[in-house]
Amino acid sequence: MPVTERLYYLDSHLIEFEARVVDVTERVSGWTAIVLNRTAFYPTGGGQPSDTGTLDGMRVVECIDDGDRGVLHVVQGVTPARDAIVRGRVDWSRRLDHMQQHTGQHILSQAFVTLFNAPTRGFRVLDTSCEIDVELSEPTTEKIERAVELANNVIWEDRAITIRNVTSEEVSELSLRKEPSREGELRLIEIEGFDLTPCGGTHAYRTGEVGMIVVRSWERAKGLTRIDFVAGTRALADYRKANRSAREVAALFSSGRDDIPQLTAHLLEEQKELHRRIRLLEENAAEVEAERLLETASDGIVTHVFEGRDAESLKRLAQALMANPRTIALLGSRDKDTARLVFARSADALGDMNALMREACTMLDGRGGGKPDLAQGGGKHVERLDEIITLIKSKLTSG
Ligand SMILES: [Zn+2]
Repeated sequence: MPVTERLYYLDSHLIEFEARVVDVTERVSGWTAIVLNRTAFYPTGGGQPSDTGTLDGMRVVECIDDGDRGVLHVVQGVTPARDAIVRGRVDWSRRLDHMQQHTGQHILSQAFVTLFNAPTRGFRVLDTSCEIDVELSEPTTEKIERAVELANNVIWEDRAITIRNVTSEEVSELSLRKEPSREGELRLIEIEGFDLTPCGGTHAYRTGEVGMIVVRSWERAKGLTRIDFVAGTRALADYRKANRSAREVAALFSSGRDDIPQLTAHLLEEQKELHRRIRLLEENAAEVEAERLLETASDGIVTHVFEGRDAESLKRLAQALMANPRTIALLGSRDKDTARLVFARSADALGDMNALMREACTMLDGRGGGKPDLAQGGGKHVERLDEIITLIKSKLTSG
């Protein structure tokens, strides 16, 4: 005979009860585990999180199933003596939430079996959503939505949910959605005309109490389809959140909420086109700038150090310069603490830009390299940039 009579097995809506303290054990400093002769508190298990609540005003932060030792109620603070009579109260909003998720899961799992012969292999109630791992090989929006629709129809038909305790002989004659994970007498949860599953969780009286089920997303994971869903109050909270996000985006467009997908797609298309046009303009600008710089060239070599010019723009200018015959460009740019270099030459000019760049970068205390006709690099010694470019130029003219 187990120590704790589990009242939650008999009535999932019972939240107030009186019980006798059977055992009090200090666990870790300040935390005490209380065992009662009976409890309405559901301990963590079967994918359903623990109830919380109070025992004579003490906060019960978690309940742990300790098998034959009963249910441990973890509390903090002054604890009652052994044999004391205490009054327990389960947090109803948390219990209702867990019931909605758990009963919702039974319904959704059976919907996948009914429609696609796809059993559920795992179930978890998380902080704000729930997950089931389903043997659904090719999940599509259409399949998922069909299951969600069937599940919600079962909810709105407000079917009765009953608990059946059966012996192992009786079990063999029943068609269960899930193989029992233990021997002996079994507790079955029956959703009238729809589902029969062994389970130790707390469930709604009728399916209507679940309110609604929605699937938020799904992904393939470890050969199964992991489905993220919410039921009941979580479905409402999730709707509010999704609606708020959608309306905030819509406000940016000064449009209606349901027009966002089309407007966003249009915006992205427009952005792509703008990028294309900017690239063209930048190329044009580089060509004009290259022409101006060519006028300053001596011995076919253009040298110039810019302030705060990024590597991409520097390279574009170098490319515009190397398009001219017999031209070498030694370009630099400096920011606060970074020096950048690009060396380039036209196909008919002489000089190994890669080798020169490596040499220059060593002097800059940095790194760089590239091809014989175009190389990039940079380093720390910003103050040596002019000097280094002059040096590289002298190497080219003397060589
Ligand atoms: Zn269950």
